[in-house]
Amino acid sequence: MLELEDALERILSAVQPLGEETVPLNSAVGRVLAGPVASPVDIPLFDNSAMDGYAVRAADVAAACEQNPVSLQVGGRIAAGEMSEGSVDAGTCVRLFTGSPLPRGADAVVMQEDTRTDPVNSDKVRFIDSVRPWENVRLRGEDVKRETVLVQGGGRLTAGHVALLAAAGVKEVRAGRQPIAALLATGSELVEPGQPLRPGAIYESNRLMLSAQARQAGAVARVFPLVPDTLSAAREALHAALADSDVLVTSGGVSVGEFDFVKKAFEQLGGHLDFWRVSIKPGRPFVFGRAEGKFLFGLPGNPVSALVTFLLLARPALLRLQGAADTGLPKSTGRLAETLTNPSDRRHFMRVVVDDSGQVRSTGAQASHILSSLARANGLVDVPPKASLASGTMISVLRWD
Ligand code: AMP
Ligand code: MG
Repeated sequence: MLELEDALERILSAVQPLGEETVPLNSAVGRVLAGPVASPVDIPLFDNSAMDGYAVRAADVAAACEQNPVSLQVGGRIAAGEMSEGSVDAGTCVRLFTGSPLPRGADAVVMQEDTRTDPVNSDKVRFIDSVRPWENVRLRGEDVKRETVLVQGGGRLTAGHVALLAAAGVKEVRAGRQPIAALLATGSELVEPGQPLRPGAIYESNRLMLSAQARQAGAVARVFPLVPDTLSAAREALHAALADSDVLVTSGGVSVGEFDFVKKAFEQLGGHLDFWRVSIKPGRPFVFGRAEGKFLFGLPGNPVSALVTFLLLARPALLRLQGAADTGLPKSTGRLAETLTNPSDRRHFMRVVVDDSGQVRSTGAQASHILSSLARANGLVDVPPKASLASGTMISVLRWD
């Protein structure tokens, strides 16, 4: 039986990025950027005003105060989006708004709140406060200098990245192609939610959970019909799914029972089983296979086992297929509010909830069929075999919320 790290290494060394494609910026959030993108421009593009107010020469209003206002001639007005050829000469000012280009000659902006209209002379303004040189001016290139890297390659684009790229005038990016993940559930007992239940049948719940997680990992998820527990049904279902996807994610049918046909069906279709069984709890009977550039992630059927193996072993592969540099789950640090004990001789990835203050608690019963404690959880804690992590200990939580 493989250790988790060995299993992961075998998977990641088998999986190569699928290649790149051009993606319009408006659908690029969550996509893995193929390479660094440099800015074609300075941001801000030009010196401009951070305030509604007046462009001045700072020296002209150096002595201004409430008791002793300084009056300047208003030489013009520049709205945001306009450009003025005029300049601010000594003794004059120009009316500006937030984002207005700073006119030549000016070296500061006095905000409107520090000015008063002149009661007698409407083309003059009184300044009741001084201003430091370059105060309230957004300098060209102070945010980003032309030719510097806006976003590094290999990461997933966030809303902030997309805003930065748009501000630089970028309208599309090169991103890793998204793998198509086929979600299949095996089990003759399974029934679609909403359909009548026969005696002994249960509602199927893995495909929606796994397709949601596959999408969160950046894949395109395709949910396939339920697969009954016969070899021929498994073979047909895998065959159809292979034709239509890059990755098969199956649940159930990979254990040792006589109704567990996924491994055999995959081999009969020409697939090669790379390894079976990983030394973790839940999720031991996990299988990884390959078939002509496509991959099988055969997850155990118990819902918690399916999710844990997906997150630890299939998710990294989906990210690698997109060219992601970092394929691990996000982590947060927290303090255990109670002791977590693992009597098993395998590492136990226990369901926990981390609250806003960083306190970490078990979400309750940890058996691999208990969905209520899964639904309450937002993370997993890796508890070593035959060990306890004492209440009060600082620990790392694998996050998947
Ligand atoms: P298996 O891995 O096929 O032996 O299934 C283990 C347990 O998980 C059994 O109790 C199955 O009924 C249950 N199970 C398998 N697949 C699903 C599924 N897609 N949704 C809900 N329960 C499942
Ligand atoms: Mg089964």
